[in-house]
Amino acid sequence: LSGRLSGVFDRLRRRGALSEADVNEALREVRVALLEADVALPVARDLINKVRERAVGVEIIRSVSPAQQVVKIVNDVLVEALGGGEGDDGQRGIDTNAPAPVAILMVGLQGSGKTTTSGKIALRLRTRDRKKVLLASLDVHRPAAQLQLETLAKQAEVGSLPIIAGQGPLEIAARAMETARRELYDVVVLDTAGRLAIDEALMAEVASVKTMVKPHQTLLVVDAMTGQDAVNTARAFQEVVGVNGIAMTRVDGDARGGAALSMRAVTGAPIRLLGAGEKLDALEDFHPDRIAGRILGMGDIVSLVERASETIDRDEAEKLANKMSKGQFDLEDYASQLKQIGKMGSISGILGMLPGIGKMKAQIENANLDQSILKRQAAIISSMTVAERRKPEILKASRKRRIAAGSGTSVQEVNRLLKQFDDMSAMMKRMSKLGQKGLMRGGGL
Ligand code: GDP
Ligand code: MG
Repeated sequence: LSGRLSGVFDRLRRRGALSEADVNEALREVRVALLEADVALPVARDLINKVRERAVGVEIIRSVSPAQQVVKIVNDVLVEALGGGEGDDGQRGIDTNAPAPVAILMVGLQGSGKTTTSGKIALRLRTRDRKKVLLASLDVHRPAAQLQLETLAKQAEVGSLPIIAGQGPLEIAARAMETARRELYDVVVLDTAGRLAIDEALMAEVASVKTMVKPHQTLLVVDAMTGQDAVNTARAFQEVVGVNGIAMTRVDGDARGGAALSMRAVTGAPIRLLGAGEKLDALEDFHPDRIAGRILGMGDIVSLVERASETIDRDEAEKLANKMSKGQFDLEDYASQLKQIGKMGSISGILGMLPGIGKMKAQIENANLDQSILKRQAAIISSMTVAERRKPEILKASRKRRIAAGSGTSVQEVNRLLKQFDDMSAMMKRMSKLGQKGLMRGGGL
């Protein structure tokens, strides 16, 4: 995605306000990216309309490029749609905030990970929250299902409801709640049977358990790898059973996570948990920003913009680029560049952001600038007089000794800095000779 988008975004590098045409062009690519990430079509459409409403006409922030601003808006809208950002609903993790025994009902299709997630939840509640947990399997359809949960309960070192042959799901659920009250359990996790596809009998069974138990939390467990189908599943469960939380499993696979966005949109229920492996400790709280990054595939750009919008002054950057292109780059400019690089913490980061400099990046990185050298170089330059910074040619041996002493460095280091500056100036002169038709053309200088 990054590669495909950067072309479009390069064209957005202009001053003023974002026009509808600019935004639409960028959003066409975003739409494809969303669909590739398994976001359902109507959900993608809604999201894009939101971005358009927010982006068109927005004054371009001077400290970032319009292109980056669009990426950031897309990201923000994604995060919000996933329940984060401004108006963060904070509904993440396991909710046991109710009088004990708190019932958690696990629902979903067969193989979605209900039983495994039940075990994971039990382990976490016992170890992290010091809760006394009872696991009960209402799955009377598959012979081994109740035993599977019992095994997990042993592994998690939590209680499991004794298996009594011949009982139906309602009876087992009633017995689980009774046992929990009598034996003072804090939480009861009720694992239910799933079918391969949604069918009415399954739904009716789960719905009647829910009506009887009135669980505090009805968690829909969905396999992230099922992509678009996840949305239909979620819709059906929401309509017939009613759920107030979603656990998305198999995020350790290569699913892009778009299903989370669709499920959230269709059910209105928060994604609370992520299953990231078969082991019992592979349970994570849902983080909207992480999934948004994964869906958009541009997490790096977004964090770069976040840092840059605090540190980089775009006007400065353009002034600098202008000077560079005219070959009027002096040590003062070099120093101010060092300062920005230092603030960014990443040389390639800032260089990538300066218009037209992308191609120079590798060369400058080869110059071996690292953070400690940056600091020493800045110290050297600040020990120079203004005249020396403007005309480094006047720096002869005695001046260099003075500067080295003043900055706590050595004459060799001063020489190295001057050599680097010379190399850079030479490179810039070459670039400026190539002029408008050469290196600069694609970059927007
Ligand atoms: P249920 O039919 O909904 O109860 O599903 P199960 O809990 O029995 O899980 C079905 C299969 O998926 C098992 O082999 C689990 O080990 C596996 N599984 C469950 N959750 C995850 C997960 O988050 N990641 C991976 N890789 N496998 C999982
Ligand atoms: Mg099961």
